[in-house]
Amino acid sequence: MNEYDSNRIYDLTSTIGFDKTDKKEEAECFVLNTCHIRDKATEKVYDEIGRFKKIFRNKKKPLVIVSGCVAQAESSEMIKREPFIDMVIGPQSYHKITDLILNYERKKEKVNETEFEVVEKFDKLTKISNTQNKVVSYITIQEGCDKFCHFCVVPYTRGPEYSRPFQQVIDEAKNLINKGSKEIILLGQNVNAYSYNNKYKLSSLIRELNSFKNLKRIRFMTSHPKDMTDDLINCYRDCEKLMPCLHLPVQSGSNKILLSMNRKHDKEYYFSIINKLKKINKEIKISSDFIVGYPGESEKDFNETIDLVKKIGFVNSYSFTFSPRPGTPAAKKTTSNIEENDKRLKKLQNILENFQLINNKKYLNKHVEVLVENKLNNQEKYFGRTKYMTPVILQDDNCKVGDLVKVKIMSFNQKNLFGIYKNNNEAAA
Ligand code: SF4
Repeated sequence: MNEYDSNRIYDLTSTIGFDKTDKKEEAECFVLNTCHIRDKATEKVYDEIGRFKKIFRNKKKPLVIVSGCVAQAESSEMIKREPFIDMVIGPQSYHKITDLILNYERKKEKVNETEFEVVEKFDKLTKISNTQNKVVSYITIQEGCDKFCHFCVVPYTRGPEYSRPFQQVIDEAKNLINKGSKEIILLGQNVNAYSYNNKYKLSSLIRELNSFKNLKRIRFMTSHPKDMTDDLINCYRDCEKLMPCLHLPVQSGSNKILLSMNRKHDKEYYFSIINKLKKINKEIKISSDFIVGYPGESEKDFNETIDLVKKIGFVNSYSFTFSPRPGTPAAKKTTSNIEENDKRLKKLQNILENFQLINNKKYLNKHVEVLVENKLNNQEKYFGRTKYMTPVILQDDNCKVGDLVKVKIMSFNQKNLFGIYKNNNEAAA
């Protein structure tokens, strides 16, 4: 979502004459768009600003803006702590960036703009063309979250759930497809909670996109198990462009820990969703997120997570040890033994990586469908992805960026497939 936001910040600032530069030392305005999900996010922002400050030690200072979730969480504290920062702008206020810059140029007063004005934001963004022209494009359809998992900062930094108007999303998709996008990834912190006017749901958007001739692939992320309703599950049966790979975070395999996390689902419910999906579409594969060492996690709880992983056999997952986020209920709990947590994480990651390796091995000497996303720098090689998001490096100069091709897989490692393309005809979707 930050990539989507960063592109839109660029689209906005370009309307008042700004252009991108790779040369930091030449910048007149520096926007650091931040994410608060990862550990020590705030300190990393100050470190980055410190590095940037050094470049301008003997030069005229550029306008320095911190946007995104760290700006939201830290607010005016950032300007007090680091005077090199001129503005902080929250993720729901960045549509105002052009006015704020023009005002700053007149008044030279520091700015803290961290209101939740999400409706106004998307109304403004709709009027500014989305300049992404990539094969794979993102569209934010939903923001914020009402679930309040005890470890997560999103409800505090992105605010309550908001869904964009159905037609606004469809118009943005049509515009991107006209510019050459072949794959659309619908984004939201809780994307499957999308609901507009009690009439349109995520399944409505998917079904509409599925009917667009020049679009080849549809994905969405990130979903909550509680919002995997039957109408959405049925899209995996009816919509051939919806890729059979679902990212569905479970976080833990222990009901005791899931309750303590306030996840609002237990492992039995999670299994029931996976069973429904697999019944409806045999091709479907699942990826997930895991938190290891959540406060109160015993050896037994951890082993239940391992059992769940072995039963489901995830294709690709993200796993971390618990680290507290300031302001969340879990931050007040006592963290368990750090050494033990590191050992547990290693054990879990070994199992997850082994699943990835076994899965990739299955493709050896077989043809897989790949959407070619770009040509690799200075090489006669291309980069693309399978239906399951697995990166593929392919050789051949017959294919074109944006083609859907059948690639023969010649070798693999845990993360990537390597293959050759020997057919000029596009693969069937
Ligand atoms: S559902 Fe996701 S975004 Fe919402 S609070 Fe939980 S982890 Fe955070």
